[in-house]
Amino acid sequence: MTDINRDRLLEDLRALSTIGAQPDGGVDRLAWSDADLAGRRWYAERIREAGLEPRVDAALNVFGHLPGSGGPWLLTGSHLDSVPDGGRLDGAYGAVAALEVLRTLFESGDSVAERIEIVGFADEEGVRFKAGLIGSLALVGELEVGRLRSGQDWKGVPVSQVLASAGLDIDRLTEAKQHLHSIRAFIELHIEQGPRMEADGIDLAIVSGIVGVHRQRIQVIGTQNHAGTTPFRLRHDAGRAATRAASELKDLVLAADSEAVANIGMMHFEPGGVNVIPGRAEFTLEVRHLEERVVRQAVDAFRTRLEAICAEEGCRAEVELLSWVPPAPMDPLLMETLGKACRELGRTPGKLWSGAGHDAAVLSHHVPAGMLFVPSAGGISHSPRETTSDEHLVLGTQALLRAVRHAAASIK
Ligand SMILES: [Zn+2]
Repeated sequence: MTDINRDRLLEDLRALSTIGAQPDGGVDRLAWSDADLAGRRWYAERIREAGLEPRVDAALNVFGHLPGSGGPWLLTGSHLDSVPDGGRLDGAYGAVAALEVLRTLFESGDSVAERIEIVGFADEEGVRFKAGLIGSLALVGELEVGRLRSGQDWKGVPVSQVLASAGLDIDRLTEAKQHLHSIRAFIELHIEQGPRMEADGIDLAIVSGIVGVHRQRIQVIGTQNHAGTTPFRLRHDAGRAATRAASELKDLVLAADSEAVANIGMMHFEPGGVNVIPGRAEFTLEVRHLEERVVRQAVDAFRTRLEAICAEEGCRAEVELLSWVPPAPMDPLLMETLGKACRELGRTPGKLWSGAGHDAAVLSHHVPAGMLFVPSAGGISHSPRETTSDEHLVLGTQALLRAVRHAAASIK
């Protein structure tokens, strides 16, 4: 079996990283920006250049397949947008590797190439509209267009206007789902974006699932008062109650499961004064785990403890759910196929869950989905310092080639 062209893969990754390149070495292809659109044109052009057929759907997802092939297909790829001042590999790696895989199979005359389609998804990151995975949600018919229509981007520009200037009609976004029926499975290759693989010396990791994410906003209400004249025993200090609960979060979450993670990323006190006892404290809580049961357990444990502390402090708490994204287990058969591909390369793959969201999570609720990770140097991502060694970038693509070939062969 012919293998991927290592130099061509690395050169394409380098070329794409020049689109939206920043002086600090990072990449800025914020969704729907000029750089993002240029990246999509570049991807479609590479597809055409390879003798394949590009197609851009109503959500600006860029697809490619063999000329004249009508599916059904095994889909592989990732997203082409980046976070502001992000890295060159998040998303771009999976999209470019998919292109290299299909090109390789097409050039070698492998008939399985007819059953493979590649994709560069639109707006996975979700920074612009505070809601991500737009391209993949549109593909599976789960995009909430009504919410987008009334929304604004991060600079206050109406979403419909942003989309219109990118050449998109917001009323036609849902047309992207017409393509879903011809997709039988999805495989996404991605950088880990975390430190676990490097720490454990793992070159390739099969993703067992993508975590569920629970987000809530909590308000602790006490009594605003003079900080000089009110003794501790007579205070109803909302700030103290909130920070006491926050300081116990880690232990409560680890008691639910040693792999669960949580974060309090924002907290502020009202009215906010050096000599004013906070009358109100507001903070966000995020909890992530692969099992919904564990997330619920951690959230409930924190709530119970918060209420006990509030009672001791003479305060009360109000909790508002912000969002819940359920966990997305990956398909066991595709996990086996990915494992086989790694072993064919003489590697024993690790197994990891993903703490970050991915297009594969969206697809997994409709078709079997699988993901493969390569290590991120230093565990750094969403940063100009995001990088992965050439050796790992090549190895991941070689594994993707084998996995895609096996998986596509069984598509009917
Ligand atoms: Zn990504």
